[in-house]
Amino acid sequence: MHKFTPEVEELANEILAYSLDRLKTDPPLDGPRSAADLFAEVGNTITERGLGGRAALGVFTEVLAKACISTDHPRYLAYIPSAPSEYASLFDLVVGASALYGGSWQEGAGAVFAENQALRWLSDLAGLPESAGGVFVQGGTIGNLSALVTAREDARAKFPDVTKWAIACSAEAHSSIATAAKIMDVELVKIAPRADLRIHGDDIAAAIDEYHASSTGRICAVVATSGTTNLGVIDDLIGAGKAAHDRNIWYHVDGAYGLAGLCAPSVRADFNGIELCDSFIVDPHKWLFAPYDACALVYRNPEIARTTHTQHASYLESLHDGSWSPSDYAIQLTRRTRGLPFWFSLAAAGTDAYRDAVEESLTVAKNAAKLISAHPRLELLREPDLSIVAFTRTGWSKDDYQKWSDQLLEDQIGFVTPSSHQGQTILRFAIVNPWTTMADIEVILDTL
Ligand SMILES: *Cc1c(COP(=O)(O)O)cnc(C)c1O
Repeated sequence: MHKFTPEVEELANEILAYSLDRLKTDPPLDGPRSAADLFAEVGNTITERGLGGRAALGVFTEVLAKACISTDHPRYLAYIPSAPSEYASLFDLVVGASALYGGSWQEGAGAVFAENQALRWLSDLAGLPESAGGVFVQGGTIGNLSALVTAREDARAKFPDVTKWAIACSAEAHSSIATAAKIMDVELVKIAPRADLRIHGDDIAAAIDEYHASSTGRICAVVATSGTTNLGVIDDLIGAGKAAHDRNIWYHVDGAYGLAGLCAPSVRADFNGIELCDSFIVDPHKWLFAPYDACALVYRNPEIARTTHTQHASYLESLHDGSWSPSDYAIQLTRRTRGLPFWFSLAAAGTDAYRDAVEESLTVAKNAAKLISAHPRLELLREPDLSIVAFTRTGWSKDDYQKWSDQLLEDQIGFVTPSSHQGQTILRFAIVNPWTTMADIEVILDTL
């Protein structure tokens, strides 16, 4: 093929070899370096004549890649790790090579068809009707924002005289909900969780009624979280749905991390009430074994999202032929077919493999909690609902936690960052990687 000179052919082999090696072997954790330090080593890589493919690849593999933490390392337990399956990562190479356009059915029909089947699996797990549908967007932040903008559009149609809007969510809701409220210029009504850390239907109902009684504004969406990022707590999904729908309000469930648990029979009942939602999100790049970046955004009634998000212009009208165009369901136009690696992995491995892998993380989390409870210097914060295990180290200050965390990475043992809960510094293991074993947990606990 004319694009491939002998030099490019050789580079292709090197890039594929590097990629395969990266996928086959446990990478080192690695870690960040300062920009000044990196510049001292690689200098300015953008030059008039170019470095050539081999040299540019060398800069990446020898220096830059090593200044990035491997988020799929089995002892990366900070934030929410990533754990792409080998099928998903390999297929990402195909997506990258194929110049697929995922914005419209006209251009990407086959790819969009496959993405939609993957969305259907999630939608069916949640118990939404056959008419439900959605789109893969970049991440939970864009997914939540797109859903909440749709919710407000729906509310505007139902209450045309209202000019001020608010979103109701838990005080423990993810930061992206506050970001969405800021972008949308709407108020945020925060509901305090009870002692079980969940927000409950009665409290949500009371907060909505109080807001409606004391403000000229209206709540346009109730957001429940199904698996908080910090501790993995699932709100009262039935009560939240009822409180919203009794008041003709959109019900959105943010399950970016936790809704992966829908495919695990041992925790499925904890998500009861998800079937009431008007929209939900779950990030396959978190606990569904897909590479960055992919958030599944699903609507009960996608038509409302379509009228909210479809862009109109003379040069776009030939796309609006009644077919299903993913761009129409979120804040985006051009889009990568970012759901395809997830689709391929699901199609190739089968849904039983997903069930087993999620159950595996739940088991490791449970056993880690047992070890921590039995540890003389550690205190378990609460039994994990999902796969996040939070605990404290007796006698440690905030500084001690940070120093320990820095040292753990420095020693290339693991990556675990401090968080906090109710003003207290805590440590948390977020376990989403099927390759994270009890031996990995023990190695880290041995340093505490
Ligand atoms: C991670 C997370 C988000 C944000 O998702 P991104 O993909 O990082 O944008 C939103 N909500 C919850 C509950 C999350 O855990």
